[in-house]
Amino acid sequence: MKSSDYLIIGGGIAGTSLGAKLASQGSVTLIEAESALGYHSTGRSAAMFAPNYGNAIIRTLNRKSFDFFRTSENLLRQRDVLVICGEKDEQDFEKLLSDGFQEISVDDACKRMPLLRSKAVLRAAIDTGCHDVDVDLLVQNHARSMRANRSNFEFNARAQKISYIDECWHVETSSGEYSAPILVNAAGAWADLIAQMAGLGRLGLTPMRRSIACVSMPMDVSGWPLLLGASETWYAKPDAGNLLISPAEEDECEPMDAWAEDLMLAEGIDRFQQFVDFEVTRVDSNWAGLRTFAPDRTPIVGFDPRAKGFFWLAGQGGYGVQTSPAMSAVAADIITNCDDTDRTLIEALNPARFC
Ligand SMILES: Cc1cc2nc3c(=O)[nH]c(=O)nc-3n(C[C@H](O)[C@H](O)[C@H](O)COP(=O)(O)OP(=O)(O)OC[C@H]3O[C@@H](n4cnc5c(N)ncnc54)[C@H](O)[C@@H]3O)c2cc1C
Repeated sequence: MKSSDYLIIGGGIAGTSLGAKLASQGSVTLIEAESALGYHSTGRSAAMFAPNYGNAIIRTLNRKSFDFFRTSENLLRQRDVLVICGEKDEQDFEKLLSDGFQEISVDDACKRMPLLRSKAVLRAAIDTGCHDVDVDLLVQNHARSMRANRSNFEFNARAQKISYIDECWHVETSSGEYSAPILVNAAGAWADLIAQMAGLGRLGLTPMRRSIACVSMPMDVSGWPLLLGASETWYAKPDAGNLLISPAEEDECEPMDAWAEDLMLAEGIDRFQQFVDFEVTRVDSNWAGLRTFAPDRTPIVGFDPRAKGFFWLAGQGGYGVQTSPAMSAVAADIITNCDDTDRTLIEALNPARFC
């Protein structure tokens, strides 16, 4: 049995960003079921930082996260988000304007995105405060600082049994046993299952699938904005010479190694094509990942009031990458009894709201 001060289940952005903060405070062991970091949601995201995306709490976390991204080398690259409003989207479009998007003329939108079919576009808006995030670099930076503090990574170590004995959490995995007085549940779509394994009830997390089709483009698209349908029923983002087109679905499913369905991808591509003079003839590759939401679509961060030392860092939904600097800072403050985070934010994230 290997013992440490902090035991983290989950090697996605949640587990690694908090691990990097805790590693300077005590010994950390991170256990991950897969053979590498970022295998599930973290490695499948659209890798955007969009400050006006999400509910009020998410937007607070976005704002608090920006300084970290801005001051870290090579993590961000500016990419505007151009919102396209079609006939059925006006209500959602107005909501985006009240969330901080700036309306622009359809002519201006066509200048920014040369393939836009102007006749199909009713209105347009832009957010120039958005960025691409280098997610792989972000995760590897966290892993490097953990290693520099001699943290222990255990891969292919799926937590299978969890018990609390003598003020310590004991976790049996497929590759060994680990213990610590503080157990962090950063298991993404599996977080409710981890809580059940620990003898606690679920908090009502819902994993929702979202898919992406990767289409190679015959022209240089690197400077294009991300195009977003105002009702979030599709988006298209340039990525390494390709266009990533998503149907932006939210399909409830069990925690799993998610995959994309052809029909879903085709529907998303069709919705995108209604607004552009470009025909997608071939999808080069595709994938899907799970965006896991709490019932109020606000993340769950804090100690479980039902069990000493059991800490939640879950329910990041579609914002887990962009909010990770602020969310890991809040989590580390709570765990180390530091007073830096304001009470309103701590209460908004508190798992007690579902217990
Ligand atoms: C298509 C798509 C687009 C997205 N776009 C964006 C975006 O542009 N910007 C943004 O901020 N967010 C985006 N997101 C959301 C973001 O990816 C997630 O919020 C974030 O990755 C969640 O991170 P996580 O660490 O909680 O989960 P994960 O990355 O899933 O990590 C959880 C880890 O826990 C491990 N685990 C589970 N059970 C066990 C167990 N029993 N034992 C050991 N390990 C276990 C899993 O193997 C997994 O590696 C997107 C998501 C998707 C799917």
